[in-house]
Amino acid sequence: MFRRDWMTPLGLWIMMAALAVAEPPYSALIVDGQNGHDWKSTSPVLKQLLEETGLFKVDVATSPPKGQDMSVFKPNFAAYNVVVCNYQGDDWPEETKKAFVDYVQGGGGVVIYHFACAAFPNWKEYNEIIGLGGWGRRTPEWGPYIRWRDGKVARDPAPDSKKTGSHGPAQPFQLVVRDPDHPITKGLPAKFMHVDDELYGWLRGPAKNLTVLATAFAPADKGGAGENEPLLFTVQYGKGRVVQNALGHAPEQLKSVAFIVTFQRAAEWAASGKVTQKVPDDFPGPDKASVRE
Ligand code: ZN
Repeated sequence: MFRRDWMTPLGLWIMMAALAVAEPPYSALIVDGQNGHDWKSTSPVLKQLLEETGLFKVDVATSPPKGQDMSVFKPNFAAYNVVVCNYQGDDWPEETKKAFVDYVQGGGGVVIYHFACAAFPNWKEYNEIIGLGGWGRRTPEWGPYIRWRDGKVARDPAPDSKKTGSHGPAQPFQLVVRDPDHPITKGLPAKFMHVDDELYGWLRGPAKNLTVLATAFAPADKGGAGENEPLLFTVQYGKGRVVQNALGHAPEQLKSVAFIVTFQRAAEWAASGKVTQKVPDDFPGPDKASVRE
């Protein structure tokens, strides 16, 4: 006879409790497959960082390699609460591009991670979604540089500068919170240190509905513009919530608690519009970076 003991109230309770533990509230999709950076070593870390919050079930959509037939690449963006872009490469098929724009427009969340800001220079909607981009021969027509000057956002059209996305040698830098009331930054120290990393500068783009959350000063004698560069910011696109986190060149930089926590909080906010995660005890202060092995 088939045993039905597991259907006892206690058995049912255990089963339901197990289900409750096993089912995170949000789903995330990491998109990769091509990137001027080593996406094969960063995507697994990003996946783990999302999963360890207990908030995300994570899938990865990997595109065909560079130069291969992209017509088969059709991730079901609409099935997710947040899409993490770790992609920079060949154009997606029109159908996929439209599905992505519809997803964001309709309220989908997006996290643009590090070099994904260099993707798709000629895709108008992508540039509106990411707010600011770099590299890819973006010119002044793409939009202004965004800097933080005199306590507020400054749009610098820089019509004569062809520079679009650059950084000096990897260096430790301090992030300064510019919007302490946003759910992503609420409760973080006003200033916090990051490990040796590329300090992205000269990003430019349409920058519509853009909110700067944190900047870092890029000294001219270390390959920077001598400006406060926006490295963590949000964009509202339609009903969609977009966050760009410019930190995190390689797995070594993904050990930085400054990256880990801003990435995890950005993902939750993009997915849900709120942040429930506590600021961890090992979050860095203004002087010394904090690292998790
Ligand atoms: Zn990099």
